[in-house]
Amino acid sequence: MTYQVNHRQLLNGNNMKDNFLFKPKNHSIKILNHKNDIPIGKIFCVGRNYPKHAEEMNEPIERDEPFFFSKPPQSITQETLISYPNNPNNLQHEVELVVVIGLEGKEIQLKESYKHILGYAVGIDLTKRELQKIAKANSKPWDLSKGFDNSAPISLMKLNQNILLREGKIELRLNGSIKQSGNISEMIWPVDQLISYLSNFITLYPGDIIFTGTPAGVGKVLKNDKIEAWIEGVGNLEVIFN
Ligand code: MG
Repeated sequence: MTYQVNHRQLLNGNNMKDNFLFKPKNHSIKILNHKNDIPIGKIFCVGRNYPKHAEEMNEPIERDEPFFFSKPPQSITQETLISYPNNPNNLQHEVELVVVIGLEGKEIQLKESYKHILGYAVGIDLTKRELQKIAKANSKPWDLSKGFDNSAPISLMKLNQNILLREGKIELRLNGSIKQSGNISEMIWPVDQLISYLSNFITLYPGDIIFTGTPAGVGKVLKNDKIEAWIEGVGNLEVIFN
């Protein structure tokens, strides 16, 4: 599969401003079977997008409006070995389908959403559950429980330009045993709705990333644990905490 890009955008340094006080830190992701990387833009994550996960969190199943939070670019990692956080606060795994945007757009019509998809990856929305609980109880933002370094491991992105994924098994194993198992067809707000909805609030650009929510079965991750995540038609992700 070929992906048409503006190659001027890919030339290192050619469009780089020369008056920066210091060199900007580049955050990028690797693509399966492709030599170019993708610069990471905004990262949005939807909450409670699978009914059984909302149930296990003792939260209501809301079908009217999705809600989102963000993670910073340094949350993304494609390394297998990840340092276990010093302050885990009940670190938990949430396996998620990750969508990468390939075409700029705002106020995108639902039926046009697929044109903005560049590809997919398998991701884990690592969450410090105890910190999140405290934030929730105090009506405070979730940033520190969701946006810490390496809190969003993802697989190589699989190019799937203009393809809307509507179904596919999604699974996570912890040290070999299945903890999360579902199908992306269970999403309350499918990928096209998430893209359309988000674009009513912000302009989506190539390199923006959407975490699409997790099926039931989230649970604790300990030091030295191994996570294997898989999404049918997308790929595999292996993470070991050291
Ligand atoms: Mg999540």
